[in-house]
Amino acid sequence: MKIGTSSVTTVDGSVDERAVVKLCSEVAALRASGVVVVVVTSGAVTAGVAALQPAGGRPADPITLQALSAIGQHRLMRVYDEALARLGLLAGQVLLAPLDFGERRQYLHARATILRLIELGVVPVVNENDAVADDEIRFGDNDRLAALVANLLGAEVLVLLTDTAGLFTADPRTDDGASLVEDVGEIGAEHERAAGGPGSSGGSGGMASKLAAARMASWSGVRAVIAAAHRPGVLSDAVSGVAGVGTVVQPRPRTLGARKLWIAFALDPAGRVVVDDGARRALVEREASLLAAGVVTVEGDFVPDDAVEIVGPDGVVFAKGLVGLSAANAADWVGRSSSELASGLAREVVHRDDLVVLVGAPARGARR
Ligand code: GLU
Repeated sequence: MKIGTSSVTTVDGSVDERAVVKLCSEVAALRASGVVVVVVTSGAVTAGVAALQPAGGRPADPITLQALSAIGQHRLMRVYDEALARLGLLAGQVLLAPLDFGERRQYLHARATILRLIELGVVPVVNENDAVADDEIRFGDNDRLAALVANLLGAEVLVLLTDTAGLFTADPRTDDGASLVEDVGEIGAEHERAAGGPGSSGGSGGMASKLAAARMASWSGVRAVIAAAHRPGVLSDAVSGVAGVGTVVQPRPRTLGARKLWIAFALDPAGRVVVDDGARRALVEREASLLAAGVVTVEGDFVPDDAVEIVGPDGVVFAKGLVGLSAANAADWVGRSSSELASGLAREVVHRDDLVVLVGAPARGARR
């Protein structure tokens, strides 16, 4: 489960002990019934702002925010530690950075540590390693981090706790006719429209990032529930699937492994590769590698190992992958058959091992 900044901090930004105690009691109750719970919590930056009280309020520059997270993280953790201790439980802090998911060794290592904490009966309490993660490659929001953790651990359900009851058909703050969407079959453009932009000022997520995280979960075979943190019994209701608990996004039958999930949803695309219909069919129907001959044009300034969106002749993004060639020398390879490629150039534009076909689920940043 993941809880957002607005749900674990008070209006003055300090850690909301009552909210953490409520959450930890629910974690303890679930554990007592045999359910393993891993907590992903936000709130470090906001707690750091409350502690330091910088002149001019919350700063905007990333380095200061990262420094503030270092002030707030241990304060946040102390509240979890005390709340869990009163319930006879130990908390174990795990701070993760994006590369921990991008490199297999790191990924396996992070997984082994969290699983060992669970075996030891400890409640893992995860946050992003905000203090050290490079700004360029930060997760930026804990919703995505939580979805990656759910994938990492093969969770059954990802509960995203926030300050609203779930996804509404319109903004409930401004539209009286807005109603809760209880079950999202497949996340579509209408859900994304309803989710709108970022939410509270303290957190970075908002409903759009919750939907994106729910989609990642769904592609990992994990059911996602977006629900209100203050609702009594919300965790156990979400786990047992009580009707009306929030917005449920069902898992897809076909799931992606961690690395492909990372490529598909965690990496920002550096450009686009537009392909012809034959290449599109080869990728979608056979998950073949993308060859230069099928590429019509490229956009952006990508270099090998960057993520690119792959776009069909209709302009729709249908896949994403790590590219093997550079945009700078596109003239040397776009549209060319393998035999025409100079030696030294990669044979595949995107190798099938680095390719994720996402028909029916546009990749992060996809434009339709
Ligand atoms: N890791 C950030 C924090 O603890 C929160 C990121 C988010 O808002 O999701 O403050």
